[in-house]
Amino acid sequence: MPSTSASLSPEQVLFIEDEADVAGPIKRGLEEEGYRVSWTTEGEEGLAEALSGSYDILIVDWRLPGMDGRTLIERLRREGSPTPVLMLTALQDVDHRVAGLDAGADDYLTKPFSFEELLARLRALTRRSSRDSSSPDTQKTHLKAGALTMDTARRAARYGPSPLDLRPKAFRLLELLLRQKGTVVTRTTIAERVWGSPYDVTANAIDVTVSSLRQVLQSVDLAGESLTTVSIETERGVGYRLTVSPPPGDPPQEASPTTSDSD
Ligand code: CA
Repeated sequence: MPSTSASLSPEQVLFIEDEADVAGPIKRGLEEEGYRVSWTTEGEEGLAEALSGSYDILIVDWRLPGMDGRTLIERLRREGSPTPVLMLTALQDVDHRVAGLDAGADDYLTKPFSFEELLARLRALTRRSSRDSSSPDTQKTHLKAGALTMDTARRAARYGPSPLDLRPKAFRLLELLLRQKGTVVTRTTIAERVWGSPYDVTANAIDVTVSSLRQVLQSVDLAGESLTTVSIETERGVGYRLTVSPPPGDPPQEASPTTSDSD
């Protein structure tokens, strides 16, 4: 049955659970209900996927190899991800539920649970999150500099017509530069805000992330559109600044010789 949601695209679920006999039937069941489900079995990998993909909801098991569910949720929230999280815990692990909610989970379900209950929780969480995202105080999740736009809640960035494919650190860096566009953001601030601590990052790692972000911006296919140029300038020894310049040589009005699709 199609869901009652009015959204045009199916809800994207990331399911992080190492037990195949639990995950398999749930994944199939959710897909039959119209969800699109990505399944991953390991904590670190799950976190990376949660941060890089665009998921509407995460289902995270507490006990995972690599990184436990609580740590995963904490790290996810520290990276600024608002994606709703439903945590799974075992029946006997009562205090895990509190710890999980403290870490940033939105709801929990204790194993074993019925599939109907899982569906009900997922519906409640997606309703809540779509209500949140339509409230007025989320304006600051939409950032803009010239033709570059970012929706931090959806972890999506576009440059003109093209979506930008950014690694989590590059996304965070771009967000930081966008929020302070035109002014220099120091390397210390970048280390603290993007990596969480100036002690956890080498100068080289910042350079590498900046240059990969520049490459992404420069490689955008503008599909023939003449757009403002967004660039990241280096302030030597201090930091970086995001600047916007007008389209190169604002062309006079004349028919473009490159297309003739009206014939
Ligand atoms: Ca498990």
